[in-house]
Amino acid sequence: MSIATGLGYDVHQLVEGRPLIIGGVQIPHTHGLLGHSDADVLTHAIIDALLGAAALGDIGEHFPDTDERYRDADSLKLLRSAVAMLNERGCSIEHVDATVILEQPKLLPHRPQIHARLLEALGVAEGQLNLKATRGEGMGFIGRLEGAAALAIATITRPDSPAATG
Ligand code: MG
Repeated sequence: MSIATGLGYDVHQLVEGRPLIIGGVQIPHTHGLLGHSDADVLTHAIIDALLGAAALGDIGEHFPDTDERYRDADSLKLLRSAVAMLNERGCSIEHVDATVILEQPKLLPHRPQIHARLLEALGVAEGQLNLKATRGEGMGFIGRLEGAAALAIATITRPDSPAATG
């Protein structure tokens, strides 16, 4: 087995009248994230980090936003599919760390619930997932309340490839 890491980044526009869904949890707010799916920016970043660690490409390849099946899709379901892809290949998730960058509302009160939902979808133990939140400090598109971003890094163990063991 070898250790691999993957990086995930996502961004979505914030608009009025959309639900704000972060890590599978709907957060009460006047604005929500715009996207083909539920636009769950945190879950999308985590999916890309996992796919990256497993060398499986990216979220757009596996769940294209041109596919009607993924309209308003529950991103936690997409995350479960990505985790299943890793498991099928003998990969094991060791750790996921993620940061959401959102000006408002504050995510801290919702963090325990988000953490619990993502733990369940990832199938990992409590100490294997860390979630953080920060703001745009009034600067840039995040500071102007135009959008939100998320970053994630996943660490996995995976079977050695024939080339690596050869
Ligand atoms: Mg996205």
